[in-house]
Amino acid sequence: MKPKVAFFDFSSCEGCQLAILNCEDILLDILNLVDLVEFRMALTETAPRYDVAFVEGSIHRDEDIERILDIRARSTYLVALGACACIGNVQARSNFVAPAVNYGEIYGEEARNRVQVDPDYWDLWSHTRVRPIDAIVKVDAYLRGCPIVPREFLHLVKSLLQGTQPFFPPNAVCVDCKMNENECVLERGLTCMGPVTWGGCDSICINSGYVCDGCRGTLPHANVEAHIELMREHNIDDRDIRSRYRLFMGAEPIGRGV
Ligand code: SF4
Ligand code: SF4
Ligand code: SF4
Repeated sequence: MKPKVAFFDFSSCEGCQLAILNCEDILLDILNLVDLVEFRMALTETAPRYDVAFVEGSIHRDEDIERILDIRARSTYLVALGACACIGNVQARSNFVAPAVNYGEIYGEEARNRVQVDPDYWDLWSHTRVRPIDAIVKVDAYLRGCPIVPREFLHLVKSLLQGTQPFFPPNAVCVDCKMNENECVLERGLTCMGPVTWGGCDSICINSGYVCDGCRGTLPHANVEAHIELMREHNIDDRDIRSRYRLFMGAEPIGRGV
């Protein structure tokens, strides 16, 4: 019997699902080996249980929590699909702004004043903290990046079909970057999150003349203190460093002097 595979999305741009649909050259081969039972971008069907559930998007609301708990309960293996699901992504920046200020930025001064005095508004807004899915449920595997890397999606699918666990080496983006013989952008006084970020993306942004913004999330063994010191040594100011950590990683280097 073919494994039943489903895709779900929460707050996201659906770009990671699109990246999978764009794997046209091998997608038909994969579809011959699995039973695709839910995929809102391509199917209308639903199913009661899944062998593998791919979940895209970050968690914001109470109903999101109920829904992800339900998906988890019906899934044998659950994969976080992309930076929104893995780390909260850029929308998690809103967690660093006080709810009333945040509300006022979006809905105006009158709403900002109201949220501070109206318990119903406050209740609504205070329940919209942005979280990655592993803040709510157990995640069995992570496909990182904004968007995901199709090669890693294929590796994961092949591994699961062979009954093995996919392995993604915990190397920094700097490893990919050195392999590509790029000039280090820190030498030009630019910020780069490469030393503390999960590699595997082939340092695509640096190869193209940009910097690494850290879309694949912080490595578990990242030396954040050393990274901050390295950027300071290259005359990058603390405001810029803080902004970079908040951008994709939802991380606040508090207590590290930044
Ligand atoms: S990780 Fe990026 S590409 Fe994927 S759904 Fe989120 S915003 Fe879109
Ligand atoms: S800091 Fe950035 S540019 Fe420098 S080697 Fe690492 S990834 Fe490449
Ligand atoms: S270089 Fe950095 S920002 Fe670019 S894809 Fe890789 S991890 Fe993401």
